Amino acid sequence: MARYTGPSCRLCRRQNMELYLKGERCYTDKCAIKRRNYPPGQHGQLRTKLSDYGVQLREKQKVRRIYGILEKQFRGYFEEADRMRGVTGENLLSLLERRLDNVVYRLGFAASRTEARILVRHCHFTLNGRKVNIPSIQCKVGDVIELREKSRKIACVNDSMEAVVRRGLPQWLELNKDACKGVVKALPQREDITLPIQEQLVVELYSK
Ligand code: SF4
Repeated sequence: MARYTGPSCRLCRRQNMELYLKGERCYTDKCAIKRRNYPPGQHGQLRTKLSDYGVQLREKQKVRRIYGILEKQFRGYFEEADRMRGVTGENLLSLLERRLDNVVYRLGFAASRTEARILVRHCHFTLNGRKVNIPSIQCKVGDVIELREKSRKIACVNDSMEAVVRRGLPQWLELNKDACKGVVKALPQREDITLPIQEQLVVELYSK
């Protein structure tokens, strides 16, 4: 399973905004955007004007990087969203939100999507009572995601569950903190996704 293994903060600096890829560190003064708010690389501090294509490309890269997905799989999500009924951009975001690693992150079991992905890969969760280790599984309405009994003492999970108060729990999810269990109450709607994303630009890019 391929994944990006380079420096996360570099991705934020390239996008010129916080993508919150590193959990708690992102909320401290150590955040690279706060210290070096310009694109990485030798020519990072040069002024450049983006073309329309450049703007669309940056938006697509932003979405991909927020959810930690590589190009080929992201293109697959777009094609699936395009085949679905409704607005393609909103379908795309809904598919991304319903990934198991994202749901684990949204429920507050992990400080970042990267951490959520690692926890899922290491079989710390069950989905509807069955052990899972595939971060890209699509969650459906009524699905129950539970932290396994033996994994409840993991320090990073406990710390993250405290932090969920700051991030807020989306309306489409329900969390029982004491039972370490979450339920997907509904499919995520566009208004539930508060990330600063202009999904229409991604659709325009792939529709060329
Ligand atoms: Fe991005 Fe977090 Fe690094 Fe800040 S600390 S640049 S938000 S990954």
